[in-house]
Amino acid sequence: MKVAVFSCKPYDKRTLSDAVTKTPAIELVYLESRLSPETMALAKGFDAVSCFVNDDINCHVIDYLAAHGLTAIALRCAGFNNVDLSAAKAAGIKVYHVPDYSPTSVAEHAVALIMTLNRKTHIAYHRVKEGNFALEGLLGFNIQSRTVGCIGTGRIGQAFCRIMKGFGCRVICYDVTPNEALLEAGCEYTDLETLYNESDIISLHCPLNASTHHLIGKNSLAEMKDGVMIINTSRGALVNAQEAIDALYTGKIGYLGLDVYEQENAIFFEDMSSHIIQDSVFQLMLTFPNVVVTGHQGFFTQEALEHIAATTVDNLILHAKGDPCSRLLNA
Ligand code: NAD
Repeated sequence: MKVAVFSCKPYDKRTLSDAVTKTPAIELVYLESRLSPETMALAKGFDAVSCFVNDDINCHVIDYLAAHGLTAIALRCAGFNNVDLSAAKAAGIKVYHVPDYSPTSVAEHAVALIMTLNRKTHIAYHRVKEGNFALEGLLGFNIQSRTVGCIGTGRIGQAFCRIMKGFGCRVICYDVTPNEALLEAGCEYTDLETLYNESDIISLHCPLNASTHHLIGKNSLAEMKDGVMIINTSRGALVNAQEAIDALYTGKIGYLGLDVYEQENAIFFEDMSSHIIQDSVFQLMLTFPNVVVTGHQGFFTQEALEHIAATTVDNLILHAKGDPCSRLLNA
């Protein structure tokens, strides 16, 4: 089976090459381009594609893939908001994902954002390099005993809650399906309103869908504590960026940590250092000293990359054999 691997970076190629080495039935061809309506012609002549978080796999792309005989889309990520699953099902294309490649890696990154914003290590780093050892402006707070709200307690949210319990926090959670193991670990479940009212730090770990789009915006922010810390390592469109900026100006948001951004597909995963970024909302966000943005690197650990590569190859092998696969999204 010949597979076009879109959005492929050198680190993907290294781990995928290692994972596929003992599987001659699968031939991977590595492409830097993202899969989108503009690039879909590159998929012609292949049996399947493999894609990542910012590929745009809409119904036009699906129709093109089906018309050219492709039968599978192997996502190298957990989230699948960028794929038209029902169009794929109607076209007979199977969509696979990697649901649990390393919940710990994303949870630990959320904690890294919390610690950076609180203890201002992003500012201290530059000060010390310039010989400035003044502490004024670097005041933090003890995380211990603070109330941490977690929205979405699936694989990543659960790992995040356990870390925050380890810090000695009160952890309150909201999920459409509460997780029994977290209750046993001493976390509490509340409604969203209580979580907004009582949390000092709110971390988002739910998927992006119609009910969570712009979950954090002026209405929800109005219910939160002044100076709340918001962390988003999930999907950019969970946060209304313009309304978050408004709340940064008033001090409603005291700290904002983002690993994802609604318009990230125009900028993330590329070296844009010599380009003018054509996004004034994003540019403005970067000017705040109490905002830390990372470029969708929550997943980016050695363990996660190896797991993504091994699972993607396994998904393709099962597809080629016609065997059942628990990671099939549109059965
Ligand atoms: P998961 O499916 O294990 O957990 C998601 C949880 O959200 C589930 O418990 C679900 O019940 C809950 N949920 C669904 N709708 C909800 C709603 N409206 N309100 C509250 N909770 C809701 O997923 P996961 O593996 O924990 O991943 C969570 C998200 O993290 C993914 O959807 C993806 O967008 C993101 N992610 C980001 C990175 C990164 O590198 N930054 C990497 C992997 C995943």
